Amino acid sequence: MANFSKFFNEHLSTLNCRDFHEGISCKRHIINSCLYCPLSVMKMFTPIYLLAIIRKNRNLTKEDLKEILLNYRSCIISASITGITCNYVSCLHRLFFRKHSMYTLIFIPAWYSAHFMFLSTKAVLEMSTTAVYQHFLDTLLRRNNVVSKTIYGSKAIQTAIFMLCSALILYGKSAFNMKGFWLTKPNRSTISEKRGDFEHRCNMHPNLSCGNFVLEGVCKNFLMGLVIDCLNALKRISKRPLSTKTWTKKRNLRLYWGPLFSLYVGLYRLTHCLLNRFHVAPGELNHILAACCAGLSHFFYPEMALFNLAAVHAFLTLWRMFQIYGAGTENKISKALLNFPYTYVLYPLIQAHCIHIYITRPQLCGPLQLAVNNSFTNNYSTAIMKKVQEAIKRGKGLQ
Ligand SMILES: [Zn+2]
Ligand SMILES: [Zn+2]
Repeated sequence: MANFSKFFNEHLSTLNCRDFHEGISCKRHIINSCLYCPLSVMKMFTPIYLLAIIRKNRNLTKEDLKEILLNYRSCIISASITGITCNYVSCLHRLFFRKHSMYTLIFIPAWYSAHFMFLSTKAVLEMSTTAVYQHFLDTLLRRNNVVSKTIYGSKAIQTAIFMLCSALILYGKSAFNMKGFWLTKPNRSTISEKRGDFEHRCNMHPNLSCGNFVLEGVCKNFLMGLVIDCLNALKRISKRPLSTKTWTKKRNLRLYWGPLFSLYVGLYRLTHCLLNRFHVAPGELNHILAACCAGLSHFFYPEMALFNLAAVHAFLTLWRMFQIYGAGTENKISKALLNFPYTYVLYPLIQAHCIHIYITRPQLCGPLQLAVNNSFTNNYSTAIMKKVQEAIKRGKGLQ
């Protein structure tokens, strides 16, 4: 590591600030960041919040809409300030130290600027911390070691882990009211569990038959996934030069998220209904088993971004359960450890680490991380990555 750092610093010090921001002065670069960072952040997050509105569908109340818009505003403001500060501090470091070095180039600016995300609302902070932990896990899984190779290389192992995570997440949502995005809401029993009441019947949907309940979930989630597929298709079209052919190509719309969402919910609701009808186990256990079965969908639609999200969510659920069960402890050290605000220490460090890994070893970063880094910094992180990779190649050639 020390050697790599030395090698890195030697070859990086030959690069000027203008090399990174393509021939324009630092002042111009900061003005550009102030203008374009908010726009690129908006481009990234507007579809996400639009999806949140579409997801609520007919249940959308005035309060919900107000909350979503408040979170949207908070997300745009804090993410833009974070991006602008990161770009600004990177230039400031070069002015102070007269040259760039391995950590002053992006690690420290990113660490420093990540603190501005704490200005956002609780929901936005939760979303960004989950995303950053997800990216961190992604970089770990792409490394060249036995554990990551085993998980990354085997669909069966991934599916088994995803099933466990799915069970934990939906259990956490139903038992502890855990927040955070997941493919579906937990099924809840609506009829009291008096024996006579629900014998030979399912106790979750008083006004619907089991078939209709499953079908309703599948259709609703297919539409949700279809919206994401359409957005992806639009993104692909926007990257190509426009012509009449671009719009008529059938290949533009690839159905992926639609079937994935509906398969997950279909499996979840169908298994839950069957288990309830045949009284396989007590209500809560039936729910956990159904949530576990729903995880089988990963086998047919292996989506690593979703896998990482599930693992992070499951870990956070476990931690929350640990906190709840340990809340009554008398031990002062345990109490302090349980209540320590880990997010405030870990989030900036992991954010900085992820963006640092992106510029030094881009092969360890997934497309989602790349998109987030670029939208925060208005593509500055990719510009830095390209220059740094060129410098590394040049340095290795000289050795
Ligand atoms: Zn500069
Ligand atoms: Zn049912």
